[in-house]
Amino acid sequence: MEKLHHGVLYFDRGLSHLKETCHALSLRGAILADATLAKTHGAALQKALGYELIPVPSGEAFKTRETKQALEDELLKRKLGRDTVLVALGGGVTTDLVGFLASTYMRGVPLVLIPTSLLAMVDAAIGGKTGVDTPLGKNLVGTFYLPKAIFIDVDLLKTLPPKEWLNGLAEVLKYGLIESPAIWEQCEKDWKKNVESLIRDSIQCKMKVVEQDPQEKGLRRILNFGHTVGHALELISHYKIAHGEAVAIGCMAESYLSHLLGFISQETLERILRTYGKLGYSLKKFEAKPFLAALALDKKAKGGEPRFVLIDRIGHCLPFDGAYCQPVKQTDLEKMIEWMNHG
Ligand code: NAD
Repeated sequence: MEKLHHGVLYFDRGLSHLKETCHALSLRGAILADATLAKTHGAALQKALGYELIPVPSGEAFKTRETKQALEDELLKRKLGRDTVLVALGGGVTTDLVGFLASTYMRGVPLVLIPTSLLAMVDAAIGGKTGVDTPLGKNLVGTFYLPKAIFIDVDLLKTLPPKEWLNGLAEVLKYGLIESPAIWEQCEKDWKKNVESLIRDSIQCKMKVVEQDPQEKGLRRILNFGHTVGHALELISHYKIAHGEAVAIGCMAESYLSHLLGFISQETLERILRTYGKLGYSLKKFEAKPFLAALALDKKAKGGEPRFVLIDRIGHCLPFDGAYCQPVKQTDLEKMIEWMNHG
């Protein structure tokens, strides 16, 4: 087992040190496990820890206030009080939802995260953001709440479907573009060669940024590279485009924008696009009008005008006086849309 980052993050194959960590927090607890993993990994953890096991319905559609409430009632019914540890086992949906629950249950109980998808390992479980979706938008209600421990066991990924690998890899590639030429180069060569080191580097990249700007006042916005376009595509497709695919398309589009505005060369843009193509991502056609309207809803928008994170080389974002994002002229956005639809 390897302990990183102020003793919070553990790389622990087989989760052999989970028990001592959890029991040091409390002998009472509940494992809230993604329903698809509850009978297998969830049951094994229940046996090891002696905690209650409660399945959490799978999928984004269940990341809601209603599910949170049902889980809270379940915990109350089982008479779990303030001395309860909550262990979240699952992808980002579970870690976001259970994180939110832990931050409000009995005014806050200790939280332990065991992310099981690549996306949750490199992104959702890192950084302390929790939340649920509402009918008006994703992640609109939530808290900042740090877990007591995060356990990364890459063996849990053995059952992850190929589509979910691509979803997570999109965030790994983003870290390469915004922060880490080394991550980018590994993805360019053969990302499968050492997945554990890729996960470790990605987490370090996110933690480094989050530690400098925990409340997203400036630098943390770089983690949003590719997401201005990505979120708009998700929204106008009514979430038929998966998050990772949308982020990958967003990173290609925002790299194009970085080139259009003169910040990266044609050669660098081509290098970026070649890698996305090789890994199986491709651009998709869409309608300009709803897309432009969706861009204006982005959280970085100011006065209804979308702002973009832009790169000036692989592994580096432009600081723009500490804002780390910049408005882009309507005519340039139209050029980007034209390029995305027609190449
Ligand atoms: P998810 O939790 O829905 O998992 C994706 C799918 O993979 C699900 O069907 C799940 O059942 C399955 N799965 C997970 N682990 C598995 C395993 N080991 N074996 C087999 N199947 C497995 O989604 P996700 O992609 O992990 O996360 C997406 C969520 O994360 C979104 O809700 C997003 O908003 C959130 N997120 C949060 C943050 C943050 O900072 N809090 C950052 C990025 C994303």
